[in-house]
Amino acid sequence: MKQQQFTQLLHHIEELSPSQREQLLNLLCFDGASASAFLIENHPDSCPHCHSVELRPWGSSHGLPRYRCKSCSKTFNPLTGTPLARLRKKEHWLAYAQCLIDGFTVRRSAKECRINKNTAFLWRHRFLKFIANKQATQEHGIVEADETFFLKSNKGQKTLERPARVRGGVSKTKGGGSEDQVSVLIVRDRSGQTADFMLERLDAKHVGAALSSVLSMDACLCTDRASVYAAYAKRAGIKHETIKASGPRKRGPFHIQNVNAYDSRLKSWMVRFRGVATKYLHNYLGWHRMLDRYRYQLNQRQCLSEVAGWGATVT
Ligand SMILES: [Zn+2]
Repeated sequence: MKQQQFTQLLHHIEELSPSQREQLLNLLCFDGASASAFLIENHPDSCPHCHSVELRPWGSSHGLPRYRCKSCSKTFNPLTGTPLARLRKKEHWLAYAQCLIDGFTVRRSAKECRINKNTAFLWRHRFLKFIANKQATQEHGIVEADETFFLKSNKGQKTLERPARVRGGVSKTKGGGSEDQVSVLIVRDRSGQTADFMLERLDAKHVGAALSSVLSMDACLCTDRASVYAAYAKRAGIKHETIKASGPRKRGPFHIQNVNAYDSRLKSWMVRFRGVATKYLHNYLGWHRMLDRYRYQLNQRQCLSEVAGWGATVT
């Protein structure tokens, strides 16, 4: 870079927001080569094969320290058992984590990380593997639930069961639950714990199974007036408050504005992908849950920790 450009760059640094400063700092302190240094810091505290805590250092391989378990005698490195195991090009992982934070498409991520598109695609799903499955398992107090819908899509599939829709497209039927839509139930409590479920059918059986997996017995379920919720709450003995679609949107502490706001953040974040393949929707839902959990403020190291399954636990 020319000196003049560099001086201009330094001037711009004053204009950076706190989160942009953090990103820049991460970029400077954790350049590609030290991505593996960061990973090495997270030395395992138990054996990924048998969970024994009796480990001893056992040399190194592929730039990662190796350990040997005294109980089962197997060797492993800090990435064994994580989605990053045996993945190459460590020097680009932090940059790729930034692409996840920024919500970049596969094409844009490939460009930013200077990797080819197939690698970027492989990484997308590998990086999201654990993230997609991490969600609230116990929600307490007032728990809001509402359903939302995504168009079914075979995007990326070579043979289509029906004619291709153009760029995301529009469903023929309004409202929810039609055949060309996937129903997703979003469940969120007032502390922000969030879970979502892709439902085969939007009926009492499937809604009930999803809710019972996440609601604690002290929960008070808050929903619109759809009868599937009332049927579940009655059967499970859960307190239930309903909000009419017409009329006041709030009754004391009871409303579904948090879950609706979450849905609207999710939908507007998804626009950039112009429709996602239904078989990957689960990954995208988890990706957004992670971003929302950190209020869109996570840094590259936190993101990579989430990828490896080392992030903070969700209760
Ligand atoms: Zn072991």
